[in-house]
Amino acid sequence: MVTKTAFAVLLTSFAALLGCTVNPVTGRSQLDLMGEAQELEMGKRLYPGAIQQSLGPITDEALQEEVGRVGQSVAAVSHRPGLEYHFTAVNDPEVNAFALPGGKICITRGLVSRLQSEDGMAAVLGHEVGHVTARHAVAAYNRQLLAGAILLGGSVYMEAEDVRNRGLIGLGALVGAQLVMASYSREQERQSDELGMDYAVRAGYSPAGMIETQRVLLDLQKKEPGVVQRLFADHPMSAERQRTAEERVAKLPADVVERPLKVAQFREVSRNVVAARPAWDKAREASALLGDQKKLPEAEAGLAEAVRMAPREGVLRTLHAMALAGLKKQPEAVAEGRQGALLAPDVYLGRIVAGQLLLQPEPAAALLHLDTAERLFPGVAQVSLLRGRALEALGRRPEALTAYKQASERDPNGEIGHEAASRARSLE
Ligand SMILES: [Zn+2]
Repeated sequence: MVTKTAFAVLLTSFAALLGCTVNPVTGRSQLDLMGEAQELEMGKRLYPGAIQQSLGPITDEALQEEVGRVGQSVAAVSHRPGLEYHFTAVNDPEVNAFALPGGKICITRGLVSRLQSEDGMAAVLGHEVGHVTARHAVAAYNRQLLAGAILLGGSVYMEAEDVRNRGLIGLGALVGAQLVMASYSREQERQSDELGMDYAVRAGYSPAGMIETQRVLLDLQKKEPGVVQRLFADHPMSAERQRTAEERVAKLPADVVERPLKVAQFREVSRNVVAARPAWDKAREASALLGDQKKLPEAEAGLAEAVRMAPREGVLRTLHAMALAGLKKQPEAVAEGRQGALLAPDVYLGRIVAGQLLLQPEPAAALLHLDTAERLFPGVAQVSLLRGRALEALGRRPEALTAYKQASERDPNGEIGHEAASRARSLE
């Protein structure tokens, strides 16, 4: 987690960082406040949080392997093949994809479930790789650094297609971080479209994948504007972008244009996300009501329905547990929270919800979930506070004290830090 302190350190070394580097795509030198080492470091440090704010990785090994394989094949023929790229399919049901500086890329469940071919996925991942190779995030970061916007208290800088209304249930509050977004310019989007198609074609994919993806998204934008609003949100999937792509394809050699789309294997690996889509759409609607006490019964009913539709989806179980807990249906909430963490073991939300719900009845089990939450997404004050409470319940007072102190250090001015400090005093 990048904290205010990290940014402060970054800023004090401002003068040292100031310099020009050559842009890998354009070959032109650009004013660069972030050298490549910082770029890589930032991407690496922010990636776990970005994944967890998108509701964690999808628990589907075959799908993750496919996303990684396609992404790496496209990245290998890009302008920056030497970067350590990572590609993760995340649980966010909205249609989106984003890239952090240095090559850390996510694609959402909402988008994967609507793609028709491996070539379509290569086009999307190629577009994101294009943002990385052309260092768009770095350019935006430089702008923000110059504007001083990056210094907002405790903010986390992240580059994405869009993060407005980010998080299914206001996850920002849960993970204790606020995202600062820089949006891409129209020109940068155009450039990434071009780079993405170029990389996908060089990697052996059909350029029709790009056309197909843009058509799917344009149709979706007409039919369900709410779902797709965040993909290329500031620069919507326009007819103009599609025309430009078609013109580009027309200039390619016939044997490239005629490459068949890779469909069969893609259908197989995306089968589960496609099958679970109606349940996730239902959950997306219902969980929007979670914040409203009066609408909790409605939210619970919707989430119960989503769980009935896709009982193996751990995050849906966790969301249902949250609604049940809000309605004070404690035993049912505990059972559902436990299932959520079991079915989606690498999702921070599931671990922290299970940790919180199990605190009273089973502090030892709660502690295990909270330790995993800390590993998945380090640095969150709420996790330290809950760990302290679990340790206290287990009679491990010195460790509880350490955890409370850590919570108050992580959140020195907030409610969580305040509560932790007063619990620490009561133990001393
Ligand atoms: Zn883009």
